[in-house]
Amino acid sequence: MHCCRNYWSFTVAEAYPWQDALWQQLAGRTQHAHAYLLHGPVGIGKRALAERLMARLLCQRPDGLDACGTCKSCMLLHAGSHPDNYVLEPEEADKAIKVDQVRDLVSFVVQTAQLGGRKVVLIEPVESMNINAANALLKSLEEPSGETVLLLVSHQPSRLLPTIKSRCVQQACPLPSEALSLQWLARALPDCGEEERVELLTLAAGSPLAAVSLHTQGAREQRAQVVDGVKKLLKQQQSPTQLAESWNAIPLLLLFDWFCDWSSLILRYQLTEDEQGLGLTDMRKVVQYLAQKSTQGKVLDIQDWILAHRQKVLSKANLNRVLLLEALLVQWAALPGQR
Ligand SMILES: [Zn+2]
Repeated sequence: MHCCRNYWSFTVAEAYPWQDALWQQLAGRTQHAHAYLLHGPVGIGKRALAERLMARLLCQRPDGLDACGTCKSCMLLHAGSHPDNYVLEPEEADKAIKVDQVRDLVSFVVQTAQLGGRKVVLIEPVESMNINAANALLKSLEEPSGETVLLLVSHQPSRLLPTIKSRCVQQACPLPSEALSLQWLARALPDCGEEERVELLTLAAGSPLAAVSLHTQGAREQRAQVVDGVKKLLKQQQSPTQLAESWNAIPLLLLFDWFCDWSSLILRYQLTEDEQGLGLTDMRKVVQYLAQKSTQGKVLDIQDWILAHRQKVLSKANLNRVLLLEALLVQWAALPGQR
């Protein structure tokens, strides 16, 4: 296997129960497309699905819908030394896939398969290619070479070039139902209580694998720290600068997601006064307080600001995180008050 560096914690091609129907449809095809675009939210097992399909497409003696696990191809794949598969990822987590990396892939695509079967390429996440890299990939998508299948995995298909999307069979991957996710989480996180699992799943916006990963990175503890900080900020017991510095270990995107959620909850409460819609218990009182003490205009302004800057965080722009958080917290501290 070429260029193999996995940053996602679920690297084994695990079969997730919510993918059953999708799997039957994909693996059961008699003819395969030249390129698939597997897209959907983060943390629902798209990578695992792509790896399972990769194994199935390379297997020399498929066992029903799945790879056999014992043929030469399966053994080589398992050992990470299959000559006919290629995994293209950013060299560093959260960085871009570079044009040079795509050029290496393009020369792999034009080679003949060494085991005489298919070649399979997996690219994740496709949106991490810059425009040059994406254009270089287009050639491989436009001129199919032999029995090569490209599996493109995307968490944000809206960021892809239309020309890339139009050359793939697009396959949306579903978010599992809450009941199914909780059932699965009960086995994945047996040491957590039911309430904790519900909370993690909520924080993960319904993505069960993201919930596990939030648990592993200590997101509940981080959130407790942030909620405590926000309360102190509003009581003027801590300054925006102190807080921004103390949140050094917390992923910026996670912080932006939380503040984005809270601003939506404040707005919703201002519009509906529905106490059922105040979100997780830890911030309910604060959300309600801010909804009552602030104006809709101010909340809309801060929400616009958060969304615009969240986009910058997502696009990996070079940001000064302390200054950015400070700017956010200065506005947040000014929410109560009619001016
Ligand atoms: Zn096999």
